[in-house]
Amino acid sequence: MTTAAIIVAAGRGTRAGDGPPKQWRAVAGRTVVEHTLGVFEAHPRVDEIVLVISADDMGWAERLDLRARAKIAIGGATRSLSVKAGLAQTEADRVLIHDAARCCLPPVVIDRVLDALDDGPGAAPALPVTDTLWSGAGASVAGIQDRSGLYRAQTPQGFHLAPFRAALAAQDGSATDDVAVARAAGIPVRIVEGDERNLKITTPADFARAEAILGQTMDIRTGNGFDVHAFGPGDHVTLCGVDIPHDHGLKGHSDADVGMHAVTDAIYGALGDGDIGQHFPPSDPQWKGAASYIFLEHACALARDRGFAITHADCTLICEFPKIGPHALAMKQEMAQIMGLTPDRISVKATTSEKLGFTGRGEGIAAIATATLVKT
Ligand code: MG
Repeated sequence: MTTAAIIVAAGRGTRAGDGPPKQWRAVAGRTVVEHTLGVFEAHPRVDEIVLVISADDMGWAERLDLRARAKIAIGGATRSLSVKAGLAQTEADRVLIHDAARCCLPPVVIDRVLDALDDGPGAAPALPVTDTLWSGAGASVAGIQDRSGLYRAQTPQGFHLAPFRAALAAQDGSATDDVAVARAAGIPVRIVEGDERNLKITTPADFARAEAILGQTMDIRTGNGFDVHAFGPGDHVTLCGVDIPHDHGLKGHSDADVGMHAVTDAIYGALGDGDIGQHFPPSDPQWKGAASYIFLEHACALARDRGFAITHADCTLICEFPKIGPHALAMKQEMAQIMGLTPDRISVKATTSEKLGFTGRGEGIAAIATATLVKT
């Protein structure tokens, strides 16, 4: 069973005030579309993402490099045509059709829809109406509406692709809701529990609500890394990217930059994604003698791809010799450059082990590092 998310972002959003369409405005540091993409990218049960945008918004997709994150489809004049354009890009077994403007979607809602699709061809999240409903005549209350059995519909609305595609082909293109399309074709749609956080940004005030919700779910991570390399023959050691003259070198498969390895492993650790040895196997001859910035750049790129900003890294080198102090500033600057950070976010410091243990006996150098990552 494969699942595709179809994110519909082709609307013009005229109720959200002046400026670009609402899905391209920033909330909590990123555009609405990027937040929505991030939810589906991070969900382990979603295999593919199709983003449906207006032809007028291709510039946004280019600037934000969205082709690297989703298939891009060009939407039509109506929602129904946009959904059709999105469906044309996938052959998954099931589709989740989602409004881009619902950028605070909790992942658990996706799970509820997918669980229900295991038992039937259609499912969508909704919340029961709890407010009293009035009918109005001008500015006056004309009556009370019975709210029992009424729901507020949300997305993603999920369907088995084949019957839903047939349903969409059979209707006249005027439907504004995918569940309506399904029901018109006789596809039963199960209601699953929605979530109050899954609001659809519609008015300017909704941006403030979304900002508060996204702020609550801030994802801050720390990872640690530890590495050791033994001294061997040589006339210098490479530490945090800086060559330091010494009466020994460090032994290792790569350039044996123990400090950079520890920081790199700290980043992999924060991402929960293995270590240098898994990404760059020592058994692979192409990494023999490799400069360690390749590993560090890879870890930084991986963090960015997962939507994390590296906010800080701290590395402690443990050795009796060479003396690190005179080189610490150069190391900090070199690390900052490779990581694309300002030097004030990098710390490189050193300690001895009071002549105890292998570092104390001068047999090698150890390094310990911590990295902090924040989901952006
Ligand atoms: Mg190493």
